[in-house]
Amino acid sequence: MTHLFDLSGRTAFVTGSARGIGYALAEGLAAAGASVVLNGTRADTVAESVSKLVSAGYQAQGRAFDVTDEAAVADAFAQWDRDGVQIDILVNNAGIQFRKPLVDLELSDWQRVIDTNLTSAFIVAKQAARRMIARGKGGKIINIGSLTSEAGRATVGAYTAAKGGIKMLTRAMSAEWAVSNIQANAIGPGYILTDMNKPLIENAAFDAWVKSSNPSQRWGTPDELVGTAVYLASPASSYVNGQIIYVDGGWLAVL
Ligand code: NDP
Repeated sequence: MTHLFDLSGRTAFVTGSARGIGYALAEGLAAAGASVVLNGTRADTVAESVSKLVSAGYQAQGRAFDVTDEAAVADAFAQWDRDGVQIDILVNNAGIQFRKPLVDLELSDWQRVIDTNLTSAFIVAKQAARRMIARGKGGKIINIGSLTSEAGRATVGAYTAAKGGIKMLTRAMSAEWAVSNIQANAIGPGYILTDMNKPLIENAAFDAWVKSSNPSQRWGTPDELVGTAVYLASPASSYVNGQIIYVDGGWLAVL
């Protein structure tokens, strides 16, 4: 049975993987046998994270670029073409948060959040899927959604719109690419302990709310998303398409 989850011989590109959830997913995919390509906006932190994985015995390389910059994304894929790097698994993970009530939110901040959390998934997946289709060997796309793919939350309107969009973009990808043996699915993480949530973790009232509203009565950790990512990246999910799997300790189940 274990071969179902074996990623040997596969190359996975995880956007925003210098730290946080993206790093944990890259490490998990590497542990399942994949060669991984890391990314973030800063060359130094991407290089540090690549070194950590290589020191642990994994196959890893990195490239820093902004996933909202269509030309930079196209350049990266063109370079990988020249280097013989074929992306079999794409994880659209890069994201940002910005908190402000909708009535006070500037259009530029709305746009930045939508570009980073939603439009980038389209920009990167377009490059990856074109190549997967041309190679004719299928592929895997995993988009990172959120509880806000399902539920509205105050002060994070643009993020909620973007993550709701991720759920439907995932379905649109399936509609067009399933015929090419590409499985496009999403993961919706619950409240996870990462830098993005630092202000919330340090806010005693919010921390208490997370623990009281979740039947698991705790935050999740990035490692707890790895199993679902490996499943969605592996042959085990060959007929699973257009789904979003919530990994949230049961939060949505009791909403
Ligand atoms: P972090 O802030 O810890 O890490 C975000 C990563 O994304 C960093 O590596 C960052 O790069 C990268 N990134 C941000 N913008 C860009 C960009 N324009 N181009 C390339 N890379 C970029 O966030 P998390 O690990 O918490 O979040 C990861 C994903 O999971 C996001 O999509 C987030 O929305 C989602 N998520 C997180 C939850 C949580 O509770 N933490 C819950 C639900 C979903 P750099 O290091 O260079 O800044």
